[in-house]
Amino acid sequence: MSNLLFKNLSKVYENGYKAVTDFNLEIKDNEFIVFVGPSGCGKSTTLRMIAGLEDITEGEISIDGKVINDISPKDRDIAMVFQNYALYPHMTVYNNMAYALKNDKIDKEEIKKKITNAAKLLQIEEYLDRKPKQLSGGQKQRVALGRALVRNPKVFLMDEPLSNLDAKLRGQMRTEINKLHKSLNTTFIYVTHDQTEAMTLGDRIVIMKDGFIQQVDTPYNLYHKPVNTFVAGFIGSPQINFLDISLINKNNKIYGILDDKEFSLGNPNLAKYKEVKMAIRPEEIHFTPFEESIPLNVKINIIENLGDHQIIYVLLGDREIIITDYKKTLLKQNDYIDIYINKKNLLFFDKESTCNVDNIN
Ligand code: ADP
Repeated sequence: MSNLLFKNLSKVYENGYKAVTDFNLEIKDNEFIVFVGPSGCGKSTTLRMIAGLEDITEGEISIDGKVINDISPKDRDIAMVFQNYALYPHMTVYNNMAYALKNDKIDKEEIKKKITNAAKLLQIEEYLDRKPKQLSGGQKQRVALGRALVRNPKVFLMDEPLSNLDAKLRGQMRTEINKLHKSLNTTFIYVTHDQTEAMTLGDRIVIMKDGFIQQVDTPYNLYHKPVNTFVAGFIGSPQINFLDISLINKNNKIYGILDDKEFSLGNPNLAKYKEVKMAIRPEEIHFTPFEESIPLNVKINIIENLGDHQIIYVLLGDREIIITDYKKTLLKQNDYIDIYINKKNLLFFDKESTCNVDNIN
């Protein structure tokens, strides 16, 4: 149970590379925070600075009000779980889990109690006498979690812990990590490049790009109120559609123009723009008319059937628009049809700064 505060944290590697710049964040007690972003954006570097595996170039990190910059890693009360499990191959599962506790001179009976409890929670009781090579990837990852768990850390750090597992197991372990967090009174910080993992695990998500925080928010807000085009495009699968439109003002009403089609737009924050990037999620476009929608005539290009829904790629001139269709409308490739874009859930971005026009005003 701990809160963390990051103040103007920066990391410059010895070769001069700026991996993290001016990182500011407060993490609350017991919060599940996910750092997400494309490879190389500085997620692991930030996590490693918390663990003490990497020096802090500028700024500070505090845990429960105490600055930890100069505290040695082993005294930070933090446990870290890595992607490659990092288990000792020559030791049994039991001894892998007991290792740090023995080093801390904890009583043998106490160690046994802790390991038994953790093994029960993670369902690895029957593997305690095995060596890591006798375990599957999923079992190894459970042991790695168990080894962290027995230390009763103030903060749990996880660096892509599921990326070595196959898709099905990854889904199962994701749910288990969620349950584990709910059953422990511990702050979790989890690094991933996978937006689904981020959205399903995080109470709040920190989206990073090129060493800079882009947005810190709940999964709901990241999806519905992204601050810029990067966040809008990073979260959501299939990706959000971006369409460049021009704007005109007639009698104090704003109209958008797309492909010679004119449609009224209610967002007052658009008044000062002549052009913007309009964005719409694939599930906000339909094949039947409804009020407050923009009709567009498009050509059906590709139909992907996924069982409970289909993903349709259509062409508006040479622009591609992606539609997620849960009604599984009967459609034929190369046909021209009308689609209807939901006006209520449109997003607009400044073309120069890439920022959401609703955040600029
Ligand atoms: P992520 O975890 O988001 O994939 P990292 O934090 O591992 O990214 O790395 C951020 C950036 O810092 C990357 O461009 C990486 O190449 C660079 N980097 C990482 N470690 C070092 C190092 N020891 N020396 C120089 N550059 C490094």
